[in-house]
Amino acid sequence: MNLKELAKRLIPDENLLEPEEYESIYPQRQLPKGAQVTRLAPSPTGFIHLGNLYSALADERCAHTTGGIFYLRIEDTDEKRKVEGAVESVIRSLKYFGIKFDEGAEIESPLNKYGPYYQRARAQIYRSFVKRLIEQGLAYPCFCTAEELDEVREKQTQSKETTGYYGVYAKCRNLSEQEIYKNLDEGKPFVIRLKSSGNIENKITFRDAIKGDITVTENDQDVVILKSDGIPTYHFAHAIDDHFMRTTLVIRGEEWLSSLPIHIELHKVLGFRQPTYAHTCSLMKMDGETKRKLSKRKDPELSLDYYRKAGYFPLAVVKYLMTVLNSNFEEWALKNPDGDYRDFKFKIDKMGKSGALFDLDKLNDVSKTEISKLSPEACYDFLKEWVDEFGTDADRTHFNDREYILKILNLIMGTGGKKRRKDIERAEQGVRLFDYFFDDTFKPEYAYRFDGQTVTAVLDGFAKVYDPADDNSTWFSKLKEVAKAVGFAAEMSEYKADPTAFKGNVSDAAEILRIAVVGSPNSPDLCTIMGILGKERALKRLTDAKKAI
Ligand code: GLU
Repeated sequence: MNLKELAKRLIPDENLLEPEEYESIYPQRQLPKGAQVTRLAPSPTGFIHLGNLYSALADERCAHTTGGIFYLRIEDTDEKRKVEGAVESVIRSLKYFGIKFDEGAEIESPLNKYGPYYQRARAQIYRSFVKRLIEQGLAYPCFCTAEELDEVREKQTQSKETTGYYGVYAKCRNLSEQEIYKNLDEGKPFVIRLKSSGNIENKITFRDAIKGDITVTENDQDVVILKSDGIPTYHFAHAIDDHFMRTTLVIRGEEWLSSLPIHIELHKVLGFRQPTYAHTCSLMKMDGETKRKLSKRKDPELSLDYYRKAGYFPLAVVKYLMTVLNSNFEEWALKNPDGDYRDFKFKIDKMGKSGALFDLDKLNDVSKTEISKLSPEACYDFLKEWVDEFGTDADRTHFNDREYILKILNLIMGTGGKKRRKDIERAEQGVRLFDYFFDDTFKPEYAYRFDGQTVTAVLDGFAKVYDPADDNSTWFSKLKEVAKAVGFAAEMSEYKADPTAFKGNVSDAAEILRIAVVGSPNSPDLCTIMGILGKERALKRLTDAKKAI
């Protein structure tokens, strides 16, 4: 068979470059020795998930700790799954977590010399290589219909054989020249398949940068490399792209491990050196007593949008993921509480080999701690950004009064040498802590533990003596006086000695006051809260509380 003629008929594109020409179009990168070139290669489905961030963080760390490059490639070979705006969403989401690409799709960079970074725009490159493989007799056209393939699969399943297109089942592998041209003349659609030379009796041992040595069986499937629409499959496209984008380290999900034999064979027939592969384990969660994979359907926390909407502090998510990526990060972070996580020596071979447990409660703890380290000004900026995008109209109005919010933040977060409070876990929850400082969102629940007369007596008594100029201890002395006047113990020691002698104690009096002012029995320092509210508003709350009895 004249394979050159056949290749021309199957891939009739004019002006295709020769495969060798791409070697000089995409020269080796000039990088320091040991530099890693990594990539994130998502499909633009619009769903960017925690697994992407997990991989991206590993990619970014590996590239940037070695003087290498981290780039974004969009694997858009499946037109049906493509969603408008998905690429921007990947970039925006990762930027939110402080992860930036050096080059790639939609990235403005002088380094963009290995593009195009969209696979559909690289069709000519793939087709040039497919044409060469046909010429070499290493690939062939297959005219089997979906129905025929289904039928074969069913037969194989019934006879408990491996399913797929191989050996005797690879019907089109042995078509005669005449048959091929007849099919082509009839306009039958075709795909191009690899003519595999593998044998499942042979084992290959391969070294995965995360999982270590893995032994797999050679591929013997004649996999599709070019689909009937002339666009390649992932297997083929990624081999070409990682070669010409000069990727050194491919970090991807372990779901690709089963296709590895195909990828090994493809690199061999294409004459490419294989990049190092690192297959990450799946992110798992505890569901009751059992550990299971995070699922798109069941777990909203799998989507990265979840973290932005809930207002997680981005650095907290990154730091928590670092502990999932490298278990010794936690120890490092304890020793370096104010250290930059980028100073930690990230190691790909320290990544978990199986099922990384993602624990939302732990993330919440990290988030609280990270937010508590912020200055009130930085915390304001963080909350304001969230409020602008996700808050209510009232939140937005409130947060326009920066000075007032900063006073509250000074109270909520504690200043100076005082131990920081850890009240804010996420912006979504943190912003609600401001509600009672504003009249339009103050929704008290007057759940007193004392009768109306006692409550009124405490509120009236305190209203008479309250002076916003009082310092904390004067404020408290005044409260003790009021407590005493209504028959409460002014000192806790007195009360403890004989509880039956009193109606209540000074802390009960404080609770009555607190419920009136903030609408619940729990809050930070009440004297400061009344100071922030201002005399008029604070006293009005006491009057309103009485009316509600
Ligand atoms: N497009 C593939 C995916 O989204 C990428 C796999 C890879 O990184 O090579 O799963």
